[in-house]
Amino acid sequence: MFERLASTLDEIAAQVRPLLSQGRVASYIPELATVPAVRFGMAVVSVDGRVFKTGDADQPFSIQSISKLFALLLALQTEGDGVWRRVGREPSGTAFNSLVQLESEQGLPRNPFINAGALAITDILCTRFATPENALVQQLRKLSGNTALDYNLRVANSERRHSDRNAAMAHFMRSFGRMDNPVDRVLDAYCSHCAIEMSCVDLARAVLPLAHHGQLPGSEERLLSASLAKRVNALMLTCGTYDAAGDFAFRVGLPAKSGVGGGIVALIPNVCGLCVWSPGLDANGNSLAGVQALELFTTLTGRSIF
Ligand code: GLU
Repeated sequence: MFERLASTLDEIAAQVRPLLSQGRVASYIPELATVPAVRFGMAVVSVDGRVFKTGDADQPFSIQSISKLFALLLALQTEGDGVWRRVGREPSGTAFNSLVQLESEQGLPRNPFINAGALAITDILCTRFATPENALVQQLRKLSGNTALDYNLRVANSERRHSDRNAAMAHFMRSFGRMDNPVDRVLDAYCSHCAIEMSCVDLARAVLPLAHHGQLPGSEERLLSASLAKRVNALMLTCGTYDAAGDFAFRVGLPAKSGVGGGIVALIPNVCGLCVWSPGLDANGNSLAGVQALELFTTLTGRSIF
């Protein structure tokens, strides 16, 4: 697969170009609406550290919900399987920011990748770390090797000013006794996590421990047990791409996590991490060109988890 990968990525970039103007850039967080739609980048980092990329693969973008994946990893590092007392493991079948299931399920979010679940995970991090914002940034600097990455304060503030729905969710969970920290504290941390900026190359590298049974490639260091890495990959497949996780698994066949900034990070166990970015979204909130690019990737290389 790697011998021809550079030209395969260029071929994918050429094939998805007509889609770049067709998606809709997220605008419900005003600061995100300023990003031009016609951008495309893709990167693959092998478990032995080789980097393949095309287009805007080095351009930092707002990772948004992709932060939910790395917040979960950080919570698992501190709590282990105790995390599953705070969030479930089922696809939600409702929008990422929906409140409806919280009432019938006594404030227990269906999974860690919907907003309610990420707020519960952020609550864990607020208990564990004096500044959970910095804890996640530090973790991502280490995993990506990019010591300069940070969150964008303008984007964080923009989301924080428009976080009524997330605030409603957090208060509702708190009313069921499922929130240990003040809601404002949790929302501040959550919005900062979503506003972290990384490039496709950064993200493809940061996800490598999940392609490597929980271990950091090229080192003896372990981020997670192999069993937890397997569990996170399963959740990415079933819950990682909003309400379209079934269709995404059908078309692409890889564990992945998307965000409304237009990024999608994915991995092939034992082989590589990969990331695609294009800000125009489809009706489900996934990058329109990004999903197509990943489908082309698994089709052209013949590699998926199936
Ligand atoms: N910060 C966004 C929100 O909570 C994340 C959305 C996403 O990427 O799915 O609405």
